[in-house]
Amino acid sequence: MPTHQTVSAALDSHRPPRWSTRFSHVLLGEDSRQRLTLTLLGLASLVTTTVVLLLMYAARIGVADVGQVSLLAGLFFVFIVGFYALIRSGENRRFADPTLAMPQTIIAQSLIAASYAMTGPVHGATVIMLALVMVFGMFSLRPASVRLACIYTVSLMGMVMVWCARHDPLHYPARQEVFNFALTAIVMLAISQLAGQLSAMRTRLKTQKIALEQALSHIEEMAAHDELTGLPNRRRMMTLLQEHATRHARGGPRFYVCIIDLDHFKHINDSHGHAAGDAVLRAFARQAQVVLRNTDMIGRWGGEEFLLLLPETPLGDPALGVTRLRDSLAELPASPSLGDLRIRFSAGFARYEHGEPVDQAIERADRALYAAKSAGRNRSVVL
Ligand code: GH3
Ligand code: MG
Ligand code: MG
Repeated sequence: MPTHQTVSAALDSHRPPRWSTRFSHVLLGEDSRQRLTLTLLGLASLVTTTVVLLLMYAARIGVADVGQVSLLAGLFFVFIVGFYALIRSGENRRFADPTLAMPQTIIAQSLIAASYAMTGPVHGATVIMLALVMVFGMFSLRPASVRLACIYTVSLMGMVMVWCARHDPLHYPARQEVFNFALTAIVMLAISQLAGQLSAMRTRLKTQKIALEQALSHIEEMAAHDELTGLPNRRRMMTLLQEHATRHARGGPRFYVCIIDLDHFKHINDSHGHAAGDAVLRAFARQAQVVLRNTDMIGRWGGEEFLLLLPETPLGDPALGVTRLRDSLAELPASPSLGDLRIRFSAGFARYEHGEPVDQAIERADRALYAAKSAGRNRSVVL
């Protein structure tokens, strides 16, 4: 029976997206990288709007020329709309840096510098905008580019300030301009420094993320494999069995479960030592992987027991591969240190029956194995 949660999740997936989600998808698109780039442009347009408002105020109080202000406001508009069109159409992907952060920063700083020269008595307010643009740039530019943009800003502002102090000393007194210049230079220097630190932090985070991902895949590998033989472990084999049972329930192929138990393994341990026993287990695992079909899966079930999952073939005899393994082991010395000792094993087979729990098939395979042992070992029994 579906739970309350699954029902509401199913309903959610059919519910039309909220208008705000739809609007944001139309405005920013679906691609997450492009959305991020457009978000940064959104921040730039916020700065632009503030500067334009300041320009309009300057025009209103009569210190700025209305024509010039309109021209600059128009340029700001073209700048934002132009970049928006470039990014939204995907054309930005053709550039080495698709965020277009450098051209955006340089154009924004140039327009703010022009506004500085046009806003007369309120020009001081534009200086903070220069800093704001660079702070945004810091998140998308490399430290070297941030430094370059800061040098450009300081040089440009130096020139604009000299020009303003010469042409309009009333609104741009030289002393105040020297102070503004020093302020701009200090802020740009600080931002350049911070950009370096921010980049180092990002690199560190990226390295840590890679290390974490590697550790996770190593842990996953360890959790699914047996350390001694390198074969899939009991948990992994159980998952595979469940998957095959589910697939069979949906019309997938039938399969056999086979349990192999090495014969008189305790004797090997007792007479040659535990390490020799381990070597025999490894040798068995290696040989099984060489001899069995690619589609047959073998895992260590525990101790000296192994479980095989064998997809059914039209040829019939499910024990064919296992017989091949038995024959090959009869030819092969178990371990160089064990003389002519050969690995022998008994195997029990059970065909998975439609719809039954996998445990039931495993139990039948176990019973078949017991029958093989009782009948004298070194043989296969199919139940
Ligand atoms: P049978 O033919 O009836 O299967 O006899 P057997 O001696 O193989 O069976 P028994 O279950 O009595 O002994 C299994 C032995 O396997 C006992 C245990 O010490 C040994 N064993 C289990 N796991 C390991 C392992 O990882 N390494 C080694 N070396 N021995 C193991
Ligand atoms: Mg055993
Ligand atoms: Mg045994």
